[in-house]
Amino acid sequence: MTAAFDPRTHQARPDELAGRVIAITGASDGVGRAVAIACAQHGAKVILLGRSERKLSAVHAQIESASPAAEPTIAVLDLENALAPDYDRLASAVLERFGRLDGLLHNAAMVGELAPIEHYDVPTWCRVLQVNLTAAFALTQVLLPALKQSSDASVLFTSSSVGRQGRAYWGAYAVSKFGVEGLSQVLAAELENISAIRVNALNPGPVRTRMRAQAYPAGNPASWPPPEAVTGPYLALLGPASRGVTGGSFDAQ
Ligand code: NDP
Repeated sequence: MTAAFDPRTHQARPDELAGRVIAITGASDGVGRAVAIACAQHGAKVILLGRSERKLSAVHAQIESASPAAEPTIAVLDLENALAPDYDRLASAVLERFGRLDGLLHNAAMVGELAPIEHYDVPTWCRVLQVNLTAAFALTQVLLPALKQSSDASVLFTSSSVGRQGRAYWGAYAVSKFGVEGLSQVLAAELENISAIRVNALNPGPVRTRMRAQAYPAGNPASWPPPEAVTGPYLALLGPASRGVTGGSFDAQ
């Protein structure tokens, strides 16, 4: 089933995500922000997760003015420092307000530093693994009860080319993305046959964001597509188009 599915070719209908409740981490900027706006434009109620209330409020305001029916919600969660009670509060709030969750996009991430393993800063290593991998595990775990209340839920992890083929100096970031691919596969296998939850991973490819500029300071931003150009595959994997597709690892470009 997954072999035939290509999220790049899907054209989402205007109301394709109507009635769906979709949570997005890193919704304050870059790809996450663009996907949140696109989900709302296609009818979803979006839960904007991020660490900066100020930045989330700006995205919230933009969605409210463009897509009033989207009823966006903000949830402040710093994935580096959040503790169990913070996760529990979020999960309770989602169940209380919506009664279920139909989509969960793990998008937030940090690069850390580009350095050889021999010299990689250990505290930075721990931070990157925490934000990019462990927080995604913890968030998925607390939100599984809400996802199980959906008749067609999708969990989508964000991968990277360096999460599939190791590359020198990408250190903790590359290792975290290998971990994300593994987490996605393990969870997909566990949930297949016992739930209506599908689990996949998506590599956005090069996108013109702050992270890209940080990772490629000598790169030419004009050669990278803007975040808005890669939202289609996200809609395909978060919405009904990918029903039955699970355990897959896809590319947005
Ligand atoms: P950005 O740097 O533009 O956005 C990163 C997002 O993650 C921001 O919303 C940021 O919040 C959030 N974030 C970072 N740290 C934390 C934290 N501790 N707690 C909560 N939120 C946090 O990056 P992109 O949009 O480029 O990246 C999105 C995803 O795509 C990432 O998973 C990345 O690895 C992946 N990717 C990107 C590529 C690219 O070329 N851009 C290529 C391949 C993969 P804040 O706004 O507060 O900083």
